[in-house]
Amino acid sequence: MSNNMMDDVEKILFSEAELATRIKELGQAITADYAGKEILMIGVLRGAVIFMSDLARAIELPVAVDFMAVSSYGAATSSSGVVRILKDLDEDVENKHVLIVEDIIDSGLTLNYLMENLWSRKPASIKICTLLNKPDRRKADVPIAYNGFTIPDYFVVGYGLDFAEKYRNLPFIGVLKPEAYQG
Ligand code: 5GP
Ligand code: MG
Ligand code: MG
Repeated sequence: MSNNMMDDVEKILFSEAELATRIKELGQAITADYAGKEILMIGVLRGAVIFMSDLARAIELPVAVDFMAVSSYGAATSSSGVVRILKDLDEDVENKHVLIVEDIIDSGLTLNYLMENLWSRKPASIKICTLLNKPDRRKADVPIAYNGFTIPDYFVVGYGLDFAEKYRNLPFIGVLKPEAYQG
């Protein structure tokens, strides 16, 4: 790739091919588990968008999609612990089989809040599918039904994940050089 984003990348954790292989596997597991059901995928904006678009195409069942946006880290790299809904769902989830799709679970505070919030709307079921799981800094316990990869406490970018809104379109998951944070 000939762009200056690559100069900021210290190492690649998961290549485009590794991501594709793992997402196929997740899609197959979800397809088997939800046989005969319709899935409502709820993507958590904005980081989950690229993962969700690939995951949806790896699931061989009817899938509806909706999105929520919640307050997150902004340009900083550690959690404030405050969760706020910036954009709510467009559709009702009552009696639906909800599959929450997240890019990464770190403290767990975002999904802990979202799970509680969504359960109050009386769905038939809720499961979580996350591409990445970073358990080292977990503060709230969240049940993860489908997990792409467990990683150490790195701040990662690419494949939807940003630093200050940059790097989302890198096709792999990578770690930035320290200089990239210092601007
Ligand atoms: P949590 O509430 O579990 O701490 O994480 C909430 C959100 O913070 C994640 O969905 C993600 O958008 C962001 N986040 C957590 N860890 C990372 C990371 O390593 N890289 C990036 N780019 N975002 C992260
Ligand atoms: Mg997220
Ligand atoms: Mg972000």
